[in-house]
Amino acid sequence: MARVELSHVSLNYHTLAGEVKALEDVSLVVEDQEFVAIVGQSGCGKSTLLSLVSGLLKPTRGSVFIDDEEVQGPSRRVGYMLQNDYLFEWRTILENALLGLEIQREKTPEAVEEVQAMLKAYGLGGFEHYYPPQLSGGMRQRVALIRTLAMRPDVLLLDEPFSALDYQNRLAVGEEVVKILRERKKTVIMVTHDIPEAVSMANRVVVMTPRPGRIRSVHRITMCDQGLTPLQTREMPQFREYFTTIWKELNRDD
Ligand code: ADP
Ligand code: MG
Repeated sequence: MARVELSHVSLNYHTLAGEVKALEDVSLVVEDQEFVAIVGQSGCGKSTLLSLVSGLLKPTRGSVFIDDEEVQGPSRRVGYMLQNDYLFEWRTILENALLGLEIQREKTPEAVEEVQAMLKAYGLGGFEHYYPPQLSGGMRQRVALIRTLAMRPDVLLLDEPFSALDYQNRLAVGEEVVKILRERKKTVIMVTHDIPEAVSMANRVVVMTPRPGRIRSVHRITMCDQGLTPLQTREMPQFREYFTTIWKELNRDD
């Protein structure tokens, strides 16, 4: 089943200096519970693509659909997680995780209980009343993910979610995040400029051209289809082949 569909989507930004073509004729279907990674050079329109799926931006041409319904604006079905975790330093971990629900006026006792259960399940039990500066980068990123999941979105958009973490943490948090998203049967679109990260986590990797961003090629990653975790995938002999193929695609100039 198609969860997300982009159909011939182009996006131009209008600035004082003129028009910036950010995306051109992008078509992509993301199946339910699929994890799609989008790689491309800085400035090729990756964040723009996520903003279009989230409904924060409207395409200049073409359409975006979620569950076959055209996206007209932000919706509860889509959760958006950014590179910076945007936790409020003066709110406790629990208060941060409940923020979305509070804004939507849905902080019911059941919802609070569910968030507490998620904190516990994802290694944050006992930290509910700590403040963000007392936590590691990886723990903070998990709080941000739980805050997003609390809104029960079907689709998660991740914009370079691990780039603020050091290498060791990136591997560990990537492993956990994939486990959480698979357990909760989410559909994911993640943008990154880190090819190993994309190959280790995704069912498919989409390579974009430099600006204006178009889809250059799409690569199916069989290890994810087989249910391997990101760390297990990195150990497979095919991992290097995928890396080399995608690296060449990314750096091809035409
Ligand atoms: P990426 O996430 O791949 O680095 P972006 O989607 O952020 O790329 O941006 C794509 C292009 O559009 C870049 O050249 C950027 O400078 C330009 N751009 C992004 N946002 C705006 C904006 N609000 N106004 C004008 N140009 C923008
Ligand atoms: Mg970006």
